[in-house]
Amino acid sequence: MITTINPYTGNVLKEHVPDSADQIETKLKIADKAYKHWRDTDMEFRAQLIRRVGEFLKKNEDEYAKQMTLEMGKPISQSRSELEKCAWLCEYYADKAPEFLKSESFATEYFKSYVSYEPIGVVLAVMPWNYPFWQVMRFIVPALMAGNVGVLKHASSVMGSALLLEQLFSDAGFPEGCFTNLTVSSDPIEEVIKNPIIKAVTLTGSKPAGSAVAGTAGSQIKKTVLELGGNNALVVFKDAHIDSAVETCVTARYQNTGQSCIAGKRLLLHEDIYHEFLAKFTDKVKSLKSGNPLDEDTYIGVMAREELAEELEELMHKSVEMGAQFHLGGKRDGAYFQPTILTHVTRHMPVFKEETFGPLIAVSSFTTDDEAIDMINDSDFGLGASLFSQDLERMQKLSPRIDDGAVFINEKVTSHPNLPFGGTGISGYGRELSEFGIREFVNIKTVVVN
Ligand code: NDP
Repeated sequence: MITTINPYTGNVLKEHVPDSADQIETKLKIADKAYKHWRDTDMEFRAQLIRRVGEFLKKNEDEYAKQMTLEMGKPISQSRSELEKCAWLCEYYADKAPEFLKSESFATEYFKSYVSYEPIGVVLAVMPWNYPFWQVMRFIVPALMAGNVGVLKHASSVMGSALLLEQLFSDAGFPEGCFTNLTVSSDPIEEVIKNPIIKAVTLTGSKPAGSAVAGTAGSQIKKTVLELGGNNALVVFKDAHIDSAVETCVTARYQNTGQSCIAGKRLLLHEDIYHEFLAKFTDKVKSLKSGNPLDEDTYIGVMAREELAEELEELMHKSVEMGAQFHLGGKRDGAYFQPTILTHVTRHMPVFKEETFGPLIAVSSFTTDDEAIDMINDSDFGLGASLFSQDLERMQKLSPRIDDGAVFINEKVTSHPNLPFGGTGISGYGRELSEFGIREFVNIKTVVVN
């Protein structure tokens, strides 16, 4: 059984019967058959159905938001924002996909030469629980617009959300097989990847999961896109606008109860503004309301699973043993983790080196721009960094020295439909969203006419 549990109450929500090997095979065959028709549909038709998905997301917002909140403890207002963003994504790709996938001519010695962007078939997505709708939509919307079809293996803990998503696409008019949920744990995924029907895989999650999935896909010469989390730095220079930087940094770290790959996990403060910034930051964090995730005014919910909170607690205690100091919080009760600030963090501590996937921030100081850059890059991850300063020109000059997939100046790193999203190092490879994302799973076909 795949059991979903409400992490706030600890109560079982549902026992899902997993698909058998035969059921998986049947679903894949239906997906393959659907692809053979879907690939020939025109862009206008695809866009019409995707727009309808956007409308259903708005219409059913209360039901979907509640499901996410019950399954993974996300505060309900943040569940609603997630769904609104999903609807925006539908509009975005419905409008833009035709332009992104339009054939392009190239000058050669031939009579005519061009590139056409064609679908590749059935794409498997292995997705995490932290944004149960957004992570899936970020994959499936461009995939369908490109003429591919999608098979989802969602995180076991949000299987109810996965089933709602499957129903949503069906209700919006997508033919059976265009978007299929596999009700499975990770056990059969190796065989699914090896199935000849699957042409490529995208995964968002941890490094071990990414490594296992990409290893199998690589052995079958199937393309992968991996989004494996981050250890983003929030860097506040001495000429930053302190009040607005405080606001942005608090959201960057604590939204979604800290469970975001692009959350700012390391706070690097210039020594001249260290005390002023930390005092204002601490006041703001103290004002965040913890509580029942279903309450409209709750900002900090519970973590998605108790064991994830335990893992975070372990990173915290190891770092404290190494000299980090509690500035705020530090207590855990089941899946609830107090918003926590650790100061005196040095580079060799776990909270600096590893991904802290919860409401805890690791604070360090620096004195020069060079030292700040060195600290940002002192990470195996490479998803993104935020720089706060009023000297926009200097910040843009520092940007190329940062190894990450994104640099946001005076802004938190965020995923935006119109901007490529992805990392370097152990944050993964490939890009999602924008023109870059939709072109990851297409056959870039060269056509020459002479
Ligand atoms: P996982 O990486 O284990 O889970 C993510 C997805 O991968 C789930 O669907 C999971 O399935 C699946 N999965 C796990 N192992 C395999 C495998 N060997 N083969 C195929 N699929 C697999 O993340 P966790 O939930 O355990 O979270 C652990 C840590 O991962 C977090 O603390 C965080 O650091 C990171 N993470 C990063 C995310 C991001 O946005 N980049 C999102 C979530 C987690 P199942 O649920 O059935 O195990």
